[in-house]
Amino acid sequence: RAKESGRSGYQFYTEQMHVDAQQLVELEQDLRHALKNDEFTLVYQPQVELDTMQITGVEALLRWYHPHKGLISPDKFIPVAESSGLIVAIGAWVINQACYQLRLWHDLGFEQLSMAINLSARQFFQRDLLATIKKSIADNGIPPAKVEFEITESMMMRNIEETIAILHQIKTLGVQLSVDDFGTGYSSLSYLKRFPLNKIKIDRTFVSGLPDDSDDGAIVEAIIAIAHSLGFTVIAEGVETVEQLRLLAIKRCGEFQGYYFSRPCPVSELSTLLLEHLPKGQKVCSLSRR
Ligand code: C2E
Ligand code: MG
Ligand code: MG
Ligand code: MG
Repeated sequence: RAKESGRSGYQFYTEQMHVDAQQLVELEQDLRHALKNDEFTLVYQPQVELDTMQITGVEALLRWYHPHKGLISPDKFIPVAESSGLIVAIGAWVINQACYQLRLWHDLGFEQLSMAINLSARQFFQRDLLATIKKSIADNGIPPAKVEFEITESMMMRNIEETIAILHQIKTLGVQLSVDDFGTGYSSLSYLKRFPLNKIKIDRTFVSGLPDDSDDGAIVEAIIAIAHSLGFTVIAEGVETVEQLRLLAIKRCGEFQGYYFSRPCPVSELSTLLLEHLPKGQKVCSLSRR
């Protein structure tokens, strides 16, 4: 494409590439200091049960506040953290911070709440992961069953046998496992049943087409059917409208996440949301106990 647009087009292209490469180098340098400079924070997005509209869990999402550049999106810096190996230390911080926050919410009386944590590929295939998870859960004294790890479908398919082995190891800690961005990674259905998973997260690209796009509707329906027949629960990502929610209810999707209910938000805002959407059987008085 650069060639076709002639000499000036080609120059533009290379300059562009130079700038991008330069930016990546800078980003990586800054990322090296971000942990010790305390530039990371986690925001939390509610996961909501469709039948009851109650919050059953939250997903922890990483935010980087760069001292000069401001907020940088994870889609931009996670790949850099991944290629530089910094993701291992950053990811360990995420796991511990999320477990710590879950402990605080459990202490406030939201004892049914679960915490979903994203894992990157490098982190997943790293030896220390098991020890890191184990320590964070023990140090914070939380029930492992309330902690869930998300790996993407494309990660799973890179090395199927090794992935299955690692998933089984993580499973022995008593935590939950889910597959993120499902539907985008071309996984073979015959393999899916071999993964020790609890939950499938329908990628938001399919949800965004609802309710009008009949192809997306068919895909969502098929994913839900497969998940249920394999004994997995299903959560839809990126639900933005009530029409999308209605269609997901008709198709018997169990849970959803998305801007329709709430954007990912800081701890204080989420605590307020939790008070308004206490899970069934939860006693508010446990709050006044302290
Ligand atoms: P993800 O795990 O699939 O997270 C869902 C993304 O969709 C989040 O973007 C969330 O803010 C966004 N989202 C939620 N509801 C809606 C909606 O209704 N509409 C739209 N348009 N978007 C919605 P975010 O926070 O920018 O994160 C992007 C990706 O970065 C995540 O995708 C995940 O792959 C990665 N990521 C975020 N935090 C971490 C982390 O702590 N560790 C690792 N390894 N990856 C992370
Ligand atoms: Mg996720
Ligand atoms: Mg996702
Ligand atoms: Mg994603």
